[in-house]
Amino acid sequence: MLIRPNPKPSESLESYMIRLADLYGYTPKQLIERFHIILDEADQKLAGSLPGHLQQLNVYHANTSSALRIECLELLAEKMCKGRLPIMGMAVFRSPTKYASRHSSLYWQGLDIPRFFVRKDSIPICPKCFQESEKAFVPFYWHLHLVRVCPLHGCKLIAVCPDCSHDLNYIRDSNLSGCSCGKKYRDMPIESASAPFINIANKIQDKKTEDFSDENLLYKLSDPHQIFGAMLWYYSYVPERGSSRCLTDETITGCISFFDQWPKNFNNLMEAKIRTAIMLTDRRFSATSLQSVFGNLLIKSRRLPSKALCFNPVLKAIFAYLDYCIHTEGEQSEIGYVLLNGFEVAAILDADAEQVARLVDEGKLRSAKRLKNDAVFNPKRPLFPLKNVFNIWLSRFQSRLSNRHIYLSRW
Ligand SMILES: [Zn+2]
Ligand SMILES: [Zn+2]
Repeated sequence: MLIRPNPKPSESLESYMIRLADLYGYTPKQLIERFHIILDEADQKLAGSLPGHLQQLNVYHANTSSALRIECLELLAEKMCKGRLPIMGMAVFRSPTKYASRHSSLYWQGLDIPRFFVRKDSIPICPKCFQESEKAFVPFYWHLHLVRVCPLHGCKLIAVCPDCSHDLNYIRDSNLSGCSCGKKYRDMPIESASAPFINIANKIQDKKTEDFSDENLLYKLSDPHQIFGAMLWYYSYVPERGSSRCLTDETITGCISFFDQWPKNFNNLMEAKIRTAIMLTDRRFSATSLQSVFGNLLIKSRRLPSKALCFNPVLKAIFAYLDYCIHTEGEQSEIGYVLLNGFEVAAILDADAEQVARLVDEGKLRSAKRLKNDAVFNPKRPLFPLKNVFNIWLSRFQSRLSNRHIYLSRW
């Protein structure tokens, strides 16, 4: 095979493979069969690590053998064409970056993208892109739930076939022309998109956004990772327990508007949680855990994906709010007495549980309850008053990227 198409900007690997197959008059399945023959000739053990279907081809789909998959794609890249195939630049890999303590992410072209935001079932398309070009392609951005608009045309991406109501998925259907029922992508209806969706899509794709009068945090952030982090935090923390955490037009609109006039809605949410705690708790705050007032707030906000206050606007708002509570004269000042567990102390100090245990051992971090001398430190027990932990942070754990000056100007 001597020729290859040039990859388009931000084109997905799967879209490129479909175009490559088209060029030789193959179906993608036949192209992959051809790959198997090439690999078999070169190295039999590699041939076994290449899946039979385009849907599983990308590197991140390889569960235990992603290194083998890379070896395999590298070999193909060399053997297939005159110049190397640009596979590695287009592939999506697993990333070690964790968001909000437990959300894994994928790496693609300089971005660590939470898996939560990567579509699994349908991949929507822009009909106008397919009208304008005979050889249209699918950018990887369309694989992301948060991208619901084509930034080129400002219209909504279409996720469901208007004729047969099936979810669109060009990879499953192995073609770049239309739905499996025969309806062409270019004939699908064009719907205008709302301004917040246009703004978020532009932001994630590093394109200019319009100026908006309402002060929305997401529009002001320049690093897409901070946008991913803040929106993921919203989905894991804000909706009430039991409510839907699906990524739909409605929930994403709700998520974006939560960040309007930041941190107004966040502060209101914190106040509501304190009011509920005051209403429900028959104990004093000094016998109440931070968890029972705010839930898993600190743990879910610690890595978004940065731990540093200056790169984590949500954590910055939390510090500002807690600082305000501790130093105010109203009933919110009681929050200064709620008890943090070892993991939450570690989150405030940007330390690990071992360092916290050492602070306890050295008597620098005092527990609100008496600990037996020989007791093993259990980081799950809420023992440390917020105010004390905060003062320890102020006195010895501030740093260039995490300090009080970063948020103090707000108050
Ligand atoms: Zn378009
Ligand atoms: Zn259809």
